[in-house]
Amino acid sequence: MGKALIIGCGGVASVAIHKCCQNSEVFEEIMIASRTKSKCDALKEKLDGGKTKIYTARVDADNVDELIALIDGFKPDVVLNLALPYQDLTIMDACLATGTNYLDTANYEPPDTAKFEYKWQWAYRDRFKKAGITALLGSGFDPGVTGVFSAYAQKHLFDEIHEIDILDANAGDHGYPFATNFNPEINIREVTAKGSYWENGKWIETEPMEIKRVYNFPEIGEKDIYLLHHEELESLALNIKGVRRIRFFMTFGQSYLTHLKCLENVGMTSIEPIMFEGRPVVPLQFLKAVLPDPATLGPRTRGKTNIGCIFKGIKDGKPRTHYIYNVCDHQECYREVGSQAISYTTGVPAMIGAMMLMTKTWDKPGVYNIEEFDPDPFMDALNKWGLPWQQIENPELVD
Ligand code: NDP
Repeated sequence: MGKALIIGCGGVASVAIHKCCQNSEVFEEIMIASRTKSKCDALKEKLDGGKTKIYTARVDADNVDELIALIDGFKPDVVLNLALPYQDLTIMDACLATGTNYLDTANYEPPDTAKFEYKWQWAYRDRFKKAGITALLGSGFDPGVTGVFSAYAQKHLFDEIHEIDILDANAGDHGYPFATNFNPEINIREVTAKGSYWENGKWIETEPMEIKRVYNFPEIGEKDIYLLHHEELESLALNIKGVRRIRFFMTFGQSYLTHLKCLENVGMTSIEPIMFEGRPVVPLQFLKAVLPDPATLGPRTRGKTNIGCIFKGIKDGKPRTHYIYNVCDHQECYREVGSQAISYTTGVPAMIGAMMLMTKTWDKPGVYNIEEFDPDPFMDALNKWGLPWQQIENPELVD
């Protein structure tokens, strides 16, 4: 069928690459390009011998000219940006210059401000449309599958959705007192920021971790959940017509929160550079360097994740509530692709999103969030490619 260029070779990219190789009918050739080429070569060595032909390259994804040269040389049908949110705009620029479809799993965040918003990427809408190419924003799990679940609920389960609660639970235990299960810098920027949710047409801001609830998750049990701001709230508030409230909750254990508070209190989570022995050092980047690499957590992590959405609304004039979720087992993921479930639940939807574009199942030029496409083929693909979902009516609600 075609070719995909995958930029980045970390936890998420590694899963997406394994999945592309399992799906060789669609992904006949892939190029893995990242800052550290040795990681790409090691993965190629592990996966070579299957039907998908694998190439590797070194690229600095902050450099548009390098990206253009890489894309021009390989001529992929789609570029999967699985590097970091800082690279979104340079990679989109290179896709525009070469007329290539684009996909990512996280929205743009300027390196010097911990503020993630869609406005920078939505500003590319007209240019992508004019060029006849598609940018699919947020094709991970959250954002990603949570948007697909929302589009599915809107299409099949409700006449109007009034409230959405996105619940992200990780009951995995990696045995370390403190580690993050995806890129520590991005993860800590996210959880130390103020919380916020969307209600009646406006954003309500909270202090970090101010709102706590307890929820009894299917297959996982009772967990503390905390309200966070999360990027899909911004696009779902626009794209799910008539929605009155959207909130996002994530589980955190007490040990994680105590360590984080302590690191915060001593200034280790700051993104302001400080001078150390004559050179500027960003404390959070230094902290990242001393924490366990999320890619190494796979063999140690046991337990399950449960991520999904509770929808409240009306159907045929009657109030309805539905919960759609996926449960993923860390050890099963590790056995299949050598990664824990956080990378798995992001890497699989990245592969599926790329497949939607390559097969032209989703085919509309412009810049779109995932919930703006027909959810049905994606929902089918989740069942087929390792993230089966479940749906229950009248679930326990979060107050
Ligand atoms: P990792 O840190 O494990 O991997 C990032 C990769 O990008 C590394 O291989 C890194 O190279 C490479 N990279 C970084 N900067 C550059 C650059 N300038 N040029 C080329 N390559 C670069 O991160 P994860 O795999 O955990 O996360 C990847 C993305 O997925 C992030 O944007 C994250 O926010 C997102 N994510 C989305 C989720 C969702 O559900 N939507 C959930 C989890 C993550 P090197 O090896 O040299 O460091």
